[in-house]
Amino acid sequence: MTADSNVTEPSAGSATAAIVVDIAIVGGGLAGSLAAAVLARAGHRVALVDKRAVHPDEFRVEKIGGRQLEMLRKLGYLDALDNVACRYDQVLNIREGKVVDVSVGRAYGLPYADLVAMARSQLPDPSSLIVDEVTAVNCRDDLQHVELASGGRITARLVVLATGMAGVLGYKLGIKRRVLAERHSVSFGFTIARRDHAPFDFEALTCYGERTADGIDYLSLFPVRAGMRANLFMFRDPTDPIMRELRREPEATVLRLLPGLRPYLGDFHVIDRVQNWVMHLSVVEGHLQPGVVLIGDAFQTNCPAAGTGVARLLVDVERLCTEYAPRWLGTEGMGREKISEFYSDRDKVAADQQSLKMARFRQALTSRNDIGWDVRRRLHFLRRSITHRLDQMRPGWLAQVRSALRA
Ligand SMILES: Cc1cc2nc3c(=O)[nH]c(=O)nc-3n(C[C@H](O)[C@H](O)[C@H](O)COP(=O)(O)OP(=O)(O)OC[C@H]3O[C@@H](n4cnc5c(N)ncnc54)[C@H](O)[C@@H]3O)c2cc1C
Repeated sequence: MTADSNVTEPSAGSATAAIVVDIAIVGGGLAGSLAAAVLARAGHRVALVDKRAVHPDEFRVEKIGGRQLEMLRKLGYLDALDNVACRYDQVLNIREGKVVDVSVGRAYGLPYADLVAMARSQLPDPSSLIVDEVTAVNCRDDLQHVELASGGRITARLVVLATGMAGVLGYKLGIKRRVLAERHSVSFGFTIARRDHAPFDFEALTCYGERTADGIDYLSLFPVRAGMRANLFMFRDPTDPIMRELRREPEATVLRLLPGLRPYLGDFHVIDRVQNWVMHLSVVEGHLQPGVVLIGDAFQTNCPAAGTGVARLLVDVERLCTEYAPRWLGTEGMGREKISEFYSDRDKVAADQQSLKMARFRQALTSRNDIGWDVRRRLHFLRRSITHRLDQMRPGWLAQVRSALRA
């Protein structure tokens, strides 16, 4: 069953034509673009609306690995990622200048704008992307109406809000954001290179914070096309003067905060603009409404240090676009009872909870200095270090133990 039609095929919005589709997706960041591609590939008529034709150079996720790759493979996008990103297979993990362990496994580094472009390129019909701003969404049990700044309109059976942290449309629908942790973390992103133009001696490197007072969780270095990308994740007051020092003198400040890093970096410099971001952890309320579903950051924000944002949004996309939306479109109506199935999906709820749990864990592991967390922190790194040394003595041992535990 499709949206009632005196149908106009999806096309660029105009002041007169109403575009009629099965699903209108508002927001073409990673969540919205992937969702649109999955649904369109399955034969649904989709309109993806974003206010920008090309995603800007904003600091968001810049590395993809582990479980995220499995999920991208399942959705059929791993090859596309492989074509546009820098692949790396080993991460050297250090603390206080000493090796903690080495993480082995495929991962990719790329700017967020390239990741979004990759997702949008997977749309079978590029004209499904409408560059416009959605100014209002009116949702009911049957048909939904989306208003565009250009004066155009879209009629759809289901609206997916994938507007990221921008909350305006949600507010108009009575959806509010509940802040769970204000100014939870601060992230910095910049690209480095050695002054002698020589490559670094590592493929990728993670350097953990040395003192709880610094509030540094870790600095992650990984390859992107422009050089070696650095993501620094901190739990610290964003008004602290150290933030300005990191922006103005990133090289000296990073080495002051992480002196153990010096021998690994040699004489390096920052080759682009230092970007930074203060993250508030939040989740929406009042979202269970007919005809509309929120996914990705539009539903819940994530701690960048925990690295759970992409896994969460991929679960949203996979559950909504391969299970619920196709089923809902097969019968009349788009009432709350349908929409609530998605929000109570077991995998989705688990991913949302895991994201919050990891956000709190990373903050406590980084900056709590009571005896309990001090012991826990020492044990955390000791366990990793012992496991690594045992694996060096008997290569393959760790992989065998892990696969035995999984069996
Ligand atoms: C600094 C930082 C570092 C991060 N690092 C990691 C990491 O290492 N690992 C990880 O897993 N996650 C990380 N994340 C989280 C991850 O980047 C996000 O979860 C993810 O990008 C969210 O994607 P989204 O599509 O939900 O939102 P967005 O990418 O923000 O997309 C929202 C889109 O909606 C559009 N839009 C909004 N309003 C309208 C409107 N009215 N009309 C039309 N279009 C509209 C915008 O133009 C935008 O394109 C990080 C986040 C930050 C901020």
